[in-house]
Amino acid sequence: MDFLRPASWEEALAAKAEHPTAVPIAGGTDVMVEINFDHRRPEYLLDLNRIELLREWEVGEENVRLGASVPYTQIMENLRTELPGLALASHTVASPQIRNRGGVGGNLGTASPAGDAHPALLAAGAEVEVESVRGSRFIPIDEFYTGVKRNALQPDELIKTVHIKKADGPQQYSKVGTRNAMVIAVCAFGLALHPETRTVRTGIGSAAPTPIRAKEAEAFLNAALEEGGFWDSGKIITPSVAKQFADLVSAAANPIDDVRGTAKYRRHAVGIMARRQLGWTWEQYRGAGRTLEGAA
Ligand SMILES: Cc1cc2nc3c(=O)[nH]c(=O)nc-3n(C[C@H](O)[C@H](O)[C@H](O)COP(=O)(O)OP(=O)(O)OC[C@H]3O[C@@H](n4cnc5c(N)ncnc54)[C@H](O)[C@@H]3O)c2cc1C
Repeated sequence: MDFLRPASWEEALAAKAEHPTAVPIAGGTDVMVEINFDHRRPEYLLDLNRIELLREWEVGEENVRLGASVPYTQIMENLRTELPGLALASHTVASPQIRNRGGVGGNLGTASPAGDAHPALLAAGAEVEVESVRGSRFIPIDEFYTGVKRNALQPDELIKTVHIKKADGPQQYSKVGTRNAMVIAVCAFGLALHPETRTVRTGIGSAAPTPIRAKEAEAFLNAALEEGGFWDSGKIITPSVAKQFADLVSAAANPIDDVRGTAKYRRHAVGIMARRQLGWTWEQYRGAGRTLEGAA
């Protein structure tokens, strides 16, 4: 196995163009497991660890530009306000050691349906900037996951930056697992309220072949909140609306039975998480300045 160590982004793109089968390695928390278990024996490893720009982030007017290799620990410590959903999801990843090494670029590279970043990225709204020697392109997060552990990257492309919308309202993330740390999700759910556009977005993890949004549930809730004047009044969401939303989230899941849980349990659990998160985020929205503005 040859180890390629580009010193710059341009060198990395050139190496990937020359050796399209080369496997990029960032934190290595997925790649090294696969190599250690002999699931993968790549001819070339393309080490991205000398490339500074992949570890940088920038908070802009509307988006956060997150370098592909920014570790989860940095997201938790520095981007909690701008990316609350992703920060919560980062907290649930593995252990401090893994969170110091692993990042969102690696999660996207692996594209496991159980990856914790995915529901948060889907709910917040993100675009993945990928680049090759041929140029760069932006892939909307909804189009990034193409199958079980498959993504929209071409063989010569690398993930450069993930552009994530800054939170304009409360966000939540939760996952079901057999213990509180070092656990791959049995299923997971993320929810983001977007008061500026009066919309909600969702993300379901580990309950379908790819991470997905519950689009019918979103459409139902968007209409119910608008028609009921909830965004303006901030009144408590009626239990029947919350239940219908949760039922539609459950219906959007398309899980399988496996060692971590049954399909029936997963479908049930994502609905429970959806109802709870709607309650938590809506309480936050009602309490956060909105009522003060209304009273002023
Ligand atoms: C003990 C343990 C526990 C774990 N627990 C969790 C968990 O709770 N939740 C969770 O989501 N994950 C978990 N993981 C998996 C892993 O930590 C995450 O998927 C992490 O985000 C991977 O990031 P990384 O930088 O280490 O990726 P790497 O292992 O370096 O790479 C992962 C994949 O992405 C590709 N890749 C990396 N960077 C790029 C790039 N810039 N461009 C193109 N492709 C790229 C690699 O080629 C590879 O295919 C766990 C892993 C271990 C070992």
